[in-house]
Amino acid sequence: MAIDFEVEPDFQMKLDWVAEFVREELEPLDRLVFSESKVGGGRGGFTDDRPSLGPKFDRHIKGLQEQVRAQGLWAMHLGPELGGPGFGQVKLCLLNEILARASMAPMVFGTQAPDTGNMELIAHNGTPEQKKRWLEPLMNGEFRSCYSMTEPHAGSDPGMFTCRAWRDGDGWVLDGEKWFSSYADVSKLIIVMAITDPEAPVTRRASMFLVPRETPGIEIIRNVGQLHEPLGTGDHGYVRYNKVRLPADALLGQEGGGFTGAQTRLSGGRIHHAMRAVGVCNQAFEMMCERAVSRRTKGSLLSDKQMVQEQIADCYIELKQFRLHVLYTAWLIDKHRAYTREVRKEIAAVKVTAPKVLQNVVYKSLHLHGSLGASNETRLGRMWMNVPWMGIVDGPTEVHKVTVAQQVLRDCKPAQGLFPTYHLPAEIAAARAKFADLIEREVAEF
Ligand SMILES: Cc1cc2nc3c(=O)[nH]c(=O)nc-3n(C[C@H](O)[C@H](O)[C@H](O)COP(=O)(O)OP(=O)(O)OC[C@H]3O[C@@H](n4cnc5c(N)ncnc54)[C@H](O)[C@@H]3O)c2cc1C
Repeated sequence: MAIDFEVEPDFQMKLDWVAEFVREELEPLDRLVFSESKVGGGRGGFTDDRPSLGPKFDRHIKGLQEQVRAQGLWAMHLGPELGGPGFGQVKLCLLNEILARASMAPMVFGTQAPDTGNMELIAHNGTPEQKKRWLEPLMNGEFRSCYSMTEPHAGSDPGMFTCRAWRDGDGWVLDGEKWFSSYADVSKLIIVMAITDPEAPVTRRASMFLVPRETPGIEIIRNVGQLHEPLGTGDHGYVRYNKVRLPADALLGQEGGGFTGAQTRLSGGRIHHAMRAVGVCNQAFEMMCERAVSRRTKGSLLSDKQMVQEQIADCYIELKQFRLHVLYTAWLIDKHRAYTREVRKEIAAVKVTAPKVLQNVVYKSLHLHGSLGASNETRLGRMWMNVPWMGIVDGPTEVHKVTVAQQVLRDCKPAQGLFPTYHLPAEIAAARAKFADLIEREVAEF
């Protein structure tokens, strides 16, 4: 089977429609929200902040969502069995690359994080009743949801989580603190990861719970913002669950199956972040190129300077390689239809590359714009402020590097003797033995 770098004409038409829709409708809307909102509305093209500028604005958004539905592009991350178009990851990748141009795009296309991952969690683990109550309205974009796993003292080591849930009568009691629970205050549903058996091995220690936001005992200690947001604003809840009482059917999936479920959810989230990072880098790179061919200094255009050409070439090559790696990873997911070891290795690898490429491309573009780049009059500033979280969210870079190395080394066998299997003297001796006849004949003929 040939590897094709093009998509079929029907899907190309969808991509073209999305590109025009984003350019004509969503990018201008982003600028409006940016100018009207105190914190700038949106995270530089990664995900939306669900801004609202009033009822008229909300109606306009609904109209845009209808157009997306009419194109069969709503909730495009979901398979047909879950009410989505089931494009698969490669096509999703190509779509996300375009959607990354507008912070509002995930909201308009029904693909905003963390709802996407939460939908997958409920779809894979929920009972029919749980799906009816939570998945269907979530898919329809009726409310927001939150994923509450990280704790103030522990993020990348699940063995250190302490937020507990224990059985009490017919139900459960949930108690503990969570940190960086994005959109906790505005969500109707919070999926909470809690330790249900502290004595079990780490992978079987936690369970997930579907917790309605209005349940008594949920306290938002405060909202935490990102680098560019003023103190006291932000979307990431520092949450305290004060002996929150939950019914028996709040348990999502198997008791003790929380971390396994989380891996599936986070794997999907990681590749989607990487796809959007490609899109953000594309924009920064386009800006860089336009600036290079527009700005003159010392008698020539920036694009005529060899050091600028080097920067452009480096960015182009790095971005191209990253994009192909993301597409290859997406293709592997489609092929295996599961987060196999091979797939997890590649996801971890692109998760490591994403912040690096983002940092390089955005910084070089920003730098080439000089004072304008360092100002608040282009989108580059907000893109730059978003670089650090790319290396942290869904697990820090170091943890993913460990995953890559472990998976690479897993099938490597140690050499049996003192010297490695590729030691030349041994290889030559073996070759001589293998071709002994040949050598004798050649010597004889000579
Ligand atoms: C924008 C954003 C949104 C988020 N949204 C959510 C959300 O909705 N729900 C949620 O539950 N969480 C969320 N998080 C939290 C995120 O999942 C955690 O920040 C992440 O898992 C890292 O945990 P930590 O912050 O506790 O860092 P730590 O675990 O304290 O790690 C800090 C640093 O230590 C180093 N380090 C860690 N482990 C290793 C290692 N094994 N080897 C070498 N060095 C290491 C790395 O340099 C790392 O950056 C969000 C985070 C961000 C930035």
